[in-house]
Amino acid sequence: MNEMIRVWTEVDITDVQSHIVVIDEKFGFCPGCREIGIKIEGLQKCPKCSREFKYVTSRDKSPAMVMRTKKKLPHLTFVDYDDYERVTGKKKAEMLFKNIDENQ
Ligand SMILES: [Zn+2]
Repeated sequence: MNEMIRVWTEVDITDVQSHIVVIDEKFGFCPGCREIGIKIEGLQKCPKCSREFKYVTSRDKSPAMVMRTKKKLPHLTFVDYDDYERVTGKKKAEMLFKNIDENQ
């Protein structure tokens, strides 16, 4: 019997950031080139900027949504949306501080 459970793992956040697609019920969004309305089924890379997708995330992270995504995109790793937002937000802040340091 298969159930969806969340497993914590260590990842290279730069790798996640540069190979992730954000999806909703019907379409995908590429954070790289900000392309919207990407067809999800069998998605391998962004049709606009050719970014290769390895990870997928969605604001809707109900087990049903994760299960559906798993079926449509079995080759991608589902990342928790809050985790994605948190680490990318943290990274943005670090880069901002780095720029401030370099300008001093
Ligand atoms: Zn793209």
